[in-house]
Amino acid sequence: MTTTRFAPSPTGYLHLGHAHSALFGWRAARDRGGRFLLRVEDIDPNRCRPEFEAALKEDLAWLGLDWDGPVRRQSDHMGDYAAALAKLAALGVTYPCFCSRKEIQEEIARAGNAPHLVAAGPEGPLYPGTCRHLDKGVAAERVAAGVPHAIRLDVSRACALTGPLTWDDLGKGRIAATPEILGDVVLARRDVPTSYHLAVTVDDHLQGVTLVTRGEDLFHATHVHRLLQALLGYAVPEWWHHGLLLNAEGQRLSKRDGATALRALRDMGRSPAEVRALAGFPGAPSGPIGSAG
Ligand code: GLU
Repeated sequence: MTTTRFAPSPTGYLHLGHAHSALFGWRAARDRGGRFLLRVEDIDPNRCRPEFEAALKEDLAWLGLDWDGPVRRQSDHMGDYAAALAKLAALGVTYPCFCSRKEIQEEIARAGNAPHLVAAGPEGPLYPGTCRHLDKGVAAERVAAGVPHAIRLDVSRACALTGPLTWDDLGKGRIAATPEILGDVVLARRDVPTSYHLAVTVDDHLQGVTLVTRGEDLFHATHVHRLLQALLGYAVPEWWHHGLLLNAEGQRLSKRDGATALRALRDMGRSPAEVRALAGFPGAPSGPIGSAG
């Protein structure tokens, strides 16, 4: 059975872009007689707030969306991420990274004098790999001494272990996985013992997600998730990355575009059906959406 999910972070109110994403996942599940899950991605305690979590559930229900089973809240499941991290560490594909953000930027700037040494990914310069070259004993001593550190994926070692991988996107077809384009990504942050990449991969597995629906801004991340799945021995889902809604200036909507917040539209007197149409899902599809609003 198809299982999709919508996985917002409660860092602000949902806007039309989120509505598009939620409707996309909901529609994909319901069209296939499948399940649609809601997951709250709240690993960042500095940015996430309980009131935004309550608001997002309320906004989705107002929009006419229903979801199956309990809502999974990532902050309740740190043990699951720690277990996956331990498994990756046992494979020898992780290392502690003691670099601060500033040190990484300085290192990139230094290497920038010799541009052939600065590897750039689709999201900017890659981590230069400084701590990958640290003596293992020295690194272990620092960890034991409580020096703050992140845990990074040694992507070259990981790729060598898995061999070539592919993944399937319902829109774009079969894709050869190239996780090295994002470099040695962080698997556990200094301040939070997991990261977006790790938590999403573990959760999609534990929740039995078979079709990962999300915006194309996360297309590159999928290369990394596919690699993590192979390392962890997880079943491989399909993906379906959707286009992003843009504002009048042609930029993707963000939480700063207050006027497109679902509750602002509701307060302006828009009906759920009108908001669904604004979010790119007009018409009267079958299921609860056709009758609500
Ligand atoms: N939490 C992510 C976001 O709000 C989405 C994660 C995902 O769909 O994989 O952008």
